Amino acid sequence: MATDMPGKKGADTCIIEAGPDAGLRLFLGVSGYSHAHPRHLRLDPALGAPMQFPAGWALIEHPLHGPILFDCGYGAAARAAMGRGLRRVYRHVLGACCPAQADPSRLLAERGLRASDVRTVVLSHFHPDHVGGLREFPEARCVAHAEAWRQVCDGGWFDHLHAQIWRELLPADTDARLRKLDVQTQRPLPGALAAFGCGWDLFDDGSGIAFALPGHATGQLGLALTVAGERVLLVADAFSRREQLDALRPPPWWVHLLAIRDSRACLDTLQRLRRFRDDNLGAWIIPAHCAATLADWQRRHPGSVLGMVSADARC
Ligand SMILES: [Zn+2]
Repeated sequence: MATDMPGKKGADTCIIEAGPDAGLRLFLGVSGYSHAHPRHLRLDPALGAPMQFPAGWALIEHPLHGPILFDCGYGAAARAAMGRGLRRVYRHVLGACCPAQADPSRLLAERGLRASDVRTVVLSHFHPDHVGGLREFPEARCVAHAEAWRQVCDGGWFDHLHAQIWRELLPADTDARLRKLDVQTQRPLPGALAAFGCGWDLFDDGSGIAFALPGHATGQLGLALTVAGERVLLVADAFSRREQLDALRPPPWWVHLLAIRDSRACLDTLQRLRRFRDDNLGAWIIPAHCAATLADWQRRHPGSVLGMVSADARC
């Protein structure tokens, strides 16, 4: 197994950011869709209902560390799971769809990549639309927050139901392949990222800095990159639509009850991201499910979106 992610550093040493061009390329993948009404997110109903949310993930091509995934969308395992038992309720309520042609390994193949080429999969959190494709990458090592993995291992049936953790999506050897990011190995973040506290320099070269995004799910991670001189934050489900950064309103109580770990932390994370956006004009903040951000990335970097780019895509 590759040994390209060394371990501990002194906790008081600040992470050094990569320069403006670390040679990374970033592609955004879409492996399906879900749907929701604007009122679920306290957004303007004029946005149309139901709104469609791409099931997004990212491919980072690193000149030294090869192809890296940030999440892996739905996939064959999630598709199969949604045909059984309570998982069918999830599929029905969210209008979730994930056709085989959008499985992450298939989309990578369109770029000439084999699943075995993927060296690392960073898992932002363990919701099915973020880890459902993991079985397609049996040779990759994984990275996740230690607390998130602890919940996967120690949580009971009801905790997993509430936290949307579907154990059957995770390969049996996940623990052996997993680098767990814990507070002992985190270090203060530099510069513009300092607002997010501490984080982890995944490759010891500042090219991929993981940091916590509390609120949505236990141990949710974001990833900071510099791509062709542009600052990029991949922020998973810290928010779903970019309008939420301006609205700064928590979703209704019942959405919190069903789908959010800590509503106060969620709002605090939103505020930090909004400040980052306002202080770093031109930086990209890319959540996993924002169709407008995806479309902007496609316009700015033609050919850098893999998969179901059409807002009218149907499953
Ligand atoms: Zn989520």
